[in-house]
Amino acid sequence: MRRFTENFSPARQAATPVRVNLYSDTQTRPSPGMLEAMMRAPVGDEQDGADPSIWELCDRVAALLGKEAAMFLPSGTMCNQIALATWCRPGEEVLAHEDAHIQGAEGGGPGAIAGVMVKGLPGPRGIFSAATLEAAIREPSRYAPPQSLIEVEQTANRGGGACWSKAELDAVAAVAHGHGMAVHMDGARLMNAAVKLGVPAAEQCAEIDTVWLDFTKGLGAPLGAVLAGPRDFIGAAWRWKQRMGGAMRQGGVCAAACLYALDHNIDRLAEDHANAAALAQGLGAVPGIAVEDVETNLVFFDTRGTGLEAAVLQARLKAAGVLVSLSDTYRLRACTHLDVDAAGIATAVAAVREACRAG
Ligand SMILES: *Cc1c(COP(=O)(O)O)cnc(C)c1O
Repeated sequence: MRRFTENFSPARQAATPVRVNLYSDTQTRPSPGMLEAMMRAPVGDEQDGADPSIWELCDRVAALLGKEAAMFLPSGTMCNQIALATWCRPGEEVLAHEDAHIQGAEGGGPGAIAGVMVKGLPGPRGIFSAATLEAAIREPSRYAPPQSLIEVEQTANRGGGACWSKAELDAVAAVAHGHGMAVHMDGARLMNAAVKLGVPAAEQCAEIDTVWLDFTKGLGAPLGAVLAGPRDFIGAAWRWKQRMGGAMRQGGVCAAACLYALDHNIDRLAEDHANAAALAQGLGAVPGIAVEDVETNLVFFDTRGTGLEAAVLQARLKAAGVLVSLSDTYRLRACTHLDVDAAGIATAVAAVREACRAG
């Protein structure tokens, strides 16, 4: 086996004080209001069906997403893995974009937990078309893995934070359902898409069978994600939650942070999008930097024109107190969130300009 060295986020390793943290929208701190809500939370034993805060959160997210039922889990990764394990049998195939988070960033979970194969579909900006999906669907045979689930990511993370339109989602779902397959949405940043497109999450997901929301990204909570879908699906998913150690006890403290996020941190995602647009504009004026189209809170940019590999520029920025994440050899990602303001964006742009000038 090829060995690796654990590489924690640059914030942990930073020698220089961090001035602007664009590493991820997971780098937020719970606000005073959120912490207060957590302290006041009524709690109980979730495994025993007795945590009122968690049930309130599940009911509210089910309503927000237009689904019958929902389940609270520690992370988005666990939502994806439980969804795959609940929908599929070992040996089956899941079709997803080739850049999907389940494909490249969940530790091989689809193979290790659900025992499924993931077939990667091509398409610009993390989005594949209904025609591409249709072309990848085989006639069932005893030779090929049975195809059982389609997965889409809203917004598409490695696709640059791009939003699937409702028409694109509906078209893919129609193809899937026409072949007797279900559709699962990785909605880590679904609320960013809802704010950007002005299309409510429930409307976007009307034809999607199961979907989850992450509370630790733009919504700013310290822990939690909620998976929603048909009542019988959530019932079956509960065995996986129990089996994987995701059934909680007095988890209402965490659910209270998520409830607070639903009330206070959704509409303000528009500020993150405005800051991302300003960042893109600023970076676009730096010689040698090529910025990809920005739709939401993720800003991907190419460093090739500066003559610097992305890791080199990343290290220089870190030394200047500005954190970004590495995407590819010449590709960096900067991510805006509720702990970054307009002044931080100006600082980051100036740091990139300076780091590139250093030659
Ligand atoms: C962050 C992320 C996940 C995983 O969520 P965690 O809560 O970090 O486990 C899954 N999919 C996408 C697109 C993500 O950005």
